Amino acid sequence: MSDKPRVFVSRVIPDAGLDRLREHCDVEVWPKPTPPRRDTLLDKVRGCHGLVTMLSDKIDENVLHTAGDGLKVVANYAVGYNNIDVAACRKHGVAVGNTPDVLTDATADVAALLMLAAARCFTPAAASVRDGGWKTWAPMDHLGVELVGKTVGVVGLGRIGRAFAERCRGGWGMNVLYTANSPKPDADRDLGARRVELDELLAESDFVSLHCPLTEETKRLIDAPALAKMKPTAVLVNTARGEVIDQDALHAALKENVIFSAGLDVTTPEPLPTDSPLLDLPNCVVLPHIGSATRHARGGMAIMAAENVLAGLAGRPLPHPVG
Ligand code: NAP
Repeated sequence: MSDKPRVFVSRVIPDAGLDRLREHCDVEVWPKPTPPRRDTLLDKVRGCHGLVTMLSDKIDENVLHTAGDGLKVVANYAVGYNNIDVAACRKHGVAVGNTPDVLTDATADVAALLMLAAARCFTPAAASVRDGGWKTWAPMDHLGVELVGKTVGVVGLGRIGRAFAERCRGGWGMNVLYTANSPKPDADRDLGARRVELDELLAESDFVSLHCPLTEETKRLIDAPALAKMKPTAVLVNTARGEVIDQDALHAALKENVIFSAGLDVTTPEPLPTDSPLLDLPNCVVLPHIGSATRHARGGMAIMAAENVLAGLAGRPLPHPVG
């Protein structure tokens, strides 16, 4: 057996990261396109010194205990880390890292894509071309809402929220409202943005886009009462995490035209079952969690995850730490 540190990588990630890890570590990569089952994950982490994990891997006390005292670092291949019990990692002396910034533009672009698609009735319009429903140019079909000069509400004006707000301001001259834990004077100055309470943001915005992390505080932040505060012409976009929305309440709101439409990159659960009632709604666009899915972002994430693992194994501070 080699005396190199053992690292388990729970999915195939770009070579840019794997090659770096392989220079210094014994690396096992889970080769299948679906995540390892829980019992398999527990089996694989046993005796590992480092882990590269995906948002689908729950890293909790049980995983840390099973991995054993040799585990030094968990590098999440994502910026969100709601799948990791960070407090338990701290207790076990395990460093935790993530992959911020490199995926910001890619994810902000998907938020913009969903905003446009949901605003312009993309789902039924594109389907009508394929299924023969498109009979002629029709003056009253697929009437959407326009973006120029409207108000966008950004829930969570962090890295991705700000990049999305810049697109809205620069591209369509939108007014920007936002919520965040702390004021953002740069955004107020550069984008003419205004920090408001969530209720005001929901009531005033023509477009609401979610960019906060999933925490106990943000779980089901957008529930039935929140949806009822939105304009009937409003479009809701979620590229954050599925659980930030009460999905049953969203389904009811879309069906009853409480809001105009929604664009979702993230759902509960993932994958969304093909018989989900959301998929029957013409005013809902759903993507399979592709926010960071560009070659640039995923390659950069792989390098950052490898850098985190190598630093953690060497006992150095992680270059991209969580918390
Ligand atoms: P970030 O820079 O940490 O931004 C998060 C923002 O949310 C911060 O501005 C924070 O405020 C704010 N916030 C925290 N709690 C809040 C609350 N209760 N209400 C309102 N705002 C709140 O993170 P990021 O890099 O932009 O990423 C944001 C999230 O996007 C990630 O956590 C992840 O879940 C999701 N994401 C999804 C994809 C995808 O593929 N769809 C890709 C990347 C990321 P302060 O700045 O004042 O603390």
